[in-house]
Amino acid sequence: MINFTVGPVQSSDEVLAVGAEQVPYFRTAEFSEMMFENERLMKKFTHATDDSKVVFMTCSGSGGMETAIINCLNRHDKALVVNGGSFGERFAELLSLHEIPHDEIKIEHGKALRPEHLKDYEGKGYTAFLIQKHETSTGVHYDMDIVSDFCKRNGCFLIVDTISTFLCDHFNMSELDAGVMITGSQKALACAPGIAVMVLAPSALKRIAENKCCCQYLDLKLALKNMERGQTPWTPAVGILRQINVRLKEIEANGGAEAEVERCAELAEYFREKIMEYNLPLEIASESLSNAVTPLHPTTQSAYEIFLKIKDEYGMWVCPNGGDMKDSIFRVGHIGCLHKDDYDRLVAAFLDLRDKGFI
Ligand SMILES: *Cc1c(COP(=O)(O)O)cnc(C)c1O
Repeated sequence: MINFTVGPVQSSDEVLAVGAEQVPYFRTAEFSEMMFENERLMKKFTHATDDSKVVFMTCSGSGGMETAIINCLNRHDKALVVNGGSFGERFAELLSLHEIPHDEIKIEHGKALRPEHLKDYEGKGYTAFLIQKHETSTGVHYDMDIVSDFCKRNGCFLIVDTISTFLCDHFNMSELDAGVMITGSQKALACAPGIAVMVLAPSALKRIAENKCCCQYLDLKLALKNMERGQTPWTPAVGILRQINVRLKEIEANGGAEAEVERCAELAEYFREKIMEYNLPLEIASESLSNAVTPLHPTTQSAYEIFLKIKDEYGMWVCPNGGDMKDSIFRVGHIGCLHKDDYDRLVAAFLDLRDKGFI
């Protein structure tokens, strides 16, 4: 199978080799050293300030989203959340569940965020802003400069879900003055699922220190205290943390985060050009694309039927959409260990389906 989904994605041979090893005992100086190295490289690749901290939570990306909310926000906040797809919706649901006062900025699927969307919320006392830098469900990459300017003007604490855009698109945490960035092990980090990585700026550390977190397992005070010695409060997904270490060093050796973004951009461009070149009945369904994924709207067949056909008859996974986008959109990812010839095979499958009259 060739995996073109947005996670879990294909790992490098080096990362796979670590996954095949015995999982070592971890309350050791060697494990702590590895965790400090993971922290250092995460800070470097996100352009975090020196006094930022990194925590590695044993949960999926959604666990990282909830961790950010229950540790950094409380009932005295007034939050704004951008909801342009399933992940924005998840942030909004979490804010409701934890009774954080908030308003939603609804964005039509496939549409970019524009300054007009934020106009009505200026000077209204908002204290926090939550957004997916890349709304993976619709494949829309939001303009973070607009958001960052709004937050700086209005004194909003910014929580950015970069789960699918980290290492795929340019990201500079200190320039944006973001408080929290979240990513997951199974997206562009291209490891097994199970770890949410969070980079916390000093503004977040202050909020965490002053807030009461009502979940022991996800309490960032405990995570931060333990990370002072390169440890975690509970048994973490040790094997995945070791994969992350190999992967971060691999990225460093290949020229760092910028080189990885470039590699991802090249794959995305290669695929998009092929779709145009052959004039396939697949429309690109986002007006602001990330390098991570190409959302496609098939004009002649159900998107879900195409997903099934490609899986069952051609041995490849494209990424189906759920809910009301199930039949209208499928996505092709550009993250993980993929190469141009993989896209040649996928495009050949689309051409074959067209020849057979399926699309
Ligand atoms: C994948 C993803 C998530 C959820 O991550 P899980 O690991 O599935 O919990 C959240 N936000 C974005 C933007 C994502 O792409």
